[in-house]
Amino acid sequence: MNLCDLNNIRTLLGRHGFHFSKAMGQNFLIDASIPQAIAEHCGADENCGVLEIGPGIGCLTEQLARRAGQVVSVELDRRLLPVLEETLSKYENVSIVSGDIMKLDIAALVDTHFSGLTPLVCANLPYNITTPVLSALIDSGRFQRLTVMIQKEVAQRICALPGTADYGAFSLYMQFYTQPELLFDVPPDCFTPQPKVTSAVLRCTVRKAPPVDVADVPFFFQVVRAAFALRRKTLLNALSAAFGSRLRKDELSALLDACGFSPTVRGETLGLAEFARLTAHLQAALKH
Ligand code: SAH
Repeated sequence: MNLCDLNNIRTLLGRHGFHFSKAMGQNFLIDASIPQAIAEHCGADENCGVLEIGPGIGCLTEQLARRAGQVVSVELDRRLLPVLEETLSKYENVSIVSGDIMKLDIAALVDTHFSGLTPLVCANLPYNITTPVLSALIDSGRFQRLTVMIQKEVAQRICALPGTADYGAFSLYMQFYTQPELLFDVPPDCFTPQPKVTSAVLRCTVRKAPPVDVADVPFFFQVVRAAFALRRKTLLNALSAAFGSRLRKDELSALLDACGFSPTVRGETLGLAEFARLTAHLQAALKH
């Protein structure tokens, strides 16, 4: 059965008495070329275990099952379980896990299901939890590559370069851990129901080693968040707001100078290397 055919979807879901839930970010693909392209770009083969989040009725799951060694698909909506049992019955390498991806131990899930396989993520993500899911997937430290369809705007923020309007703390987080590439756009009319936003497929290749030397990674991201917390202010004022109780403004000013930054520099113009330098200087100053 073509799981992207609108008539098939209506018949199938009608038979199961299913109604779409906005709260669960349910927009199902109705253009068969899209799940095919996503699965192709994720690069899965029989040596890979693929984690999917939110299979819906299984149109992408099926494409992954044809390529990968194992597919584990986590679905929050229990009403979809009998549907998936029907649509994916012929694929022996697919396990559906019923649950909320935000509450599962992702590392344990990978270790139990993908022993001896290269773990990948491939999913049309529920858009309301895009950033926390991406963070949890990266923090699990298990995946070699994440290929996800998300809101185009978020994909642009993830790929954004310093000094652009889209650039922010989440760009730095994603670029520190991965090399993100925006692959292609997917317009609203490829889904039912149609979302209000354009989507895009993003592929993030997880780095084997950090792109810059950082002694204390949590502190590095604390500095990054501080720099972007007051976006319209200079870096000096932003740092002063965050670390003012421990360093005087003239000390912070001298520190920016030692980093080679202009006194009026804004955090949004700094790249990974500059933030790494700033973090090292701040850490040394705070130890005194
Ligand atoms: N992959 C399908 C459906 C994408 S819609 C397709 O492309 O057609 C998003 C899916 O994520 C829905 O099936 C929704 O029920 C599921 N979902 C939403 N929140 C979730 C969560 N926290 N954990 C797991 N699945 C979730």
